Amino acid sequence: MIEQAFRIGSFANIPVRIHWTFLLLIVYIIGSGLYDKSSWSGILFLIGFTLCMFFCVVLHEFGHALTAKKFGIRTADIILLPIGGVARLQNLPDKPRQELWIAIMGPVVNLLIAIILFVVLYAIHGNAMIHLFSGEIPLNMNVSEFMSLLLQANLLLMIFNLIPAFPMDGGRVLRAFIAIYSNRLVATRWASRIGQALCILFIIYGFYSEAWTLIFIGIFIFLGASQEYSMVKQEFLYKDKFIKDFYYKIQHYFPEYALIKDIRDEFRMLGQKHIPVLDIEGRISGIISLPFIQLNYEKVKNLQIKEIMFAQLISLPQSSTLLDTVKYFDSGIPAVFVTDGFQIIGMLDADCIKINLSQSVS
Ligand SMILES: [Zn+2]
Repeated sequence: MIEQAFRIGSFANIPVRIHWTFLLLIVYIIGSGLYDKSSWSGILFLIGFTLCMFFCVVLHEFGHALTAKKFGIRTADIILLPIGGVARLQNLPDKPRQELWIAIMGPVVNLLIAIILFVVLYAIHGNAMIHLFSGEIPLNMNVSEFMSLLLQANLLLMIFNLIPAFPMDGGRVLRAFIAIYSNRLVATRWASRIGQALCILFIIYGFYSEAWTLIFIGIFIFLGASQEYSMVKQEFLYKDKFIKDFYYKIQHYFPEYALIKDIRDEFRMLGQKHIPVLDIEGRISGIISLPFIQLNYEKVKNLQIKEIMFAQLISLPQSSTLLDTVKYFDSGIPAVFVTDGFQIIGMLDADCIKINLSQSVS
């Protein structure tokens, strides 16, 4: 879904893209403005403010992206969603100090914007600018009112992002801090626990004071934290392991014209969940999956293998890491072929990794 975004420009070789749902936000502002019978100037003011705010979000993301660039980490793109921005870094920094800098520079950008607005407002109004923040806004101060709102919004954005829980920047800062003194896995575990405890407090307080947005934010961050932890755990488990220690040898093939009902029993006896399929000329043309057959047996029993096999063949050298390999399984590829030079020496599926890993742990 995140791919449905239009490119609106680029800076320092980093494209900025805007997600189509962003248009819904503008439509919502106009719609609710008309519903409330606001004036068009009021609606335009709100749209202008929203666009300015998102420009600040872009600057915030560039704070992350340009710092990452300094450490040699590329940013694939910056995407604007109605809920905020994301800078998609192509990989995470290994050194905790680098992560710390990358994470903190986003909120720092918002602080800088707030300071600049403060200086400008002070230059215009002197001590009288205090009225801008106390609600007593004179009628002729529209531009200043706009700037003071922007200032406050930037401070809010900074504080919100510094909440020490994933996926907020504050969570990354906290993890980087802990990681300086331990390792990344331990740091992530602690950072996500602390973040989740904080979220529970948010949610309780939200119920207590009937602040529904707070509950929503709490749940959103809570889920983000556990997701981050399982990602890092997977990375830790799979990073230094190679598929040559996990694959199984291919001992069976099925011909692609065989009927599913004729091979099911034999397939179940083999003890392997994925078997290669051969075409008439004896070349591998696909992979047939036992779990898929079991799940859809009534629908597929009278079909030929080639009608339901996976035809997308991936082969990886045996020196590939598990981390690189599980990405294929996550994207829906049921199994991959393992090669030594140009020769296929075996197959690997997610199940096989799980069984082997649980054996090596116990
Ligand atoms: Zn950020």
